[in-house]
Amino acid sequence: MALNISDECINCDVCEPECPNEAISQGDEIYQIDPGKCTECVGHYDTPQCVEVCPVDCIAKDPAHSESSEMLWVKYERLTGNKRAG
Ligand code: SF4
Ligand code: SF4
Repeated sequence: MALNISDECINCDVCEPECPNEAISQGDEIYQIDPGKCTECVGHYDTPQCVEVCPVDCIAKDPAHSESSEMLWVKYERLTGNKRAG
């Protein structure tokens, strides 16, 4: 499922450049993730890179955007034009 940034965000700007899908942007008050672009980093990395770097641990899975691993791979292929490895 896509990830979501909570209102604990301190606008540190660390996560935005780490996202391989350019899914993260500055919102009106805090940073936000476009669920149409977030693959949980599937296809790019083994772990969600934004979660790895966030200093306040305010990024979590968004139950409102439940997606299977298969669906995340399909999203990766659609966004990048690449086929999954293996
Ligand atoms: Fe971007 Fe990966 Fe974070 Fe999703 S999990 S917003 S794809 S860095
Ligand atoms: Fe907000 Fe965390 Fe991103 Fe910093 S790394 S902008 S605190 S979500």
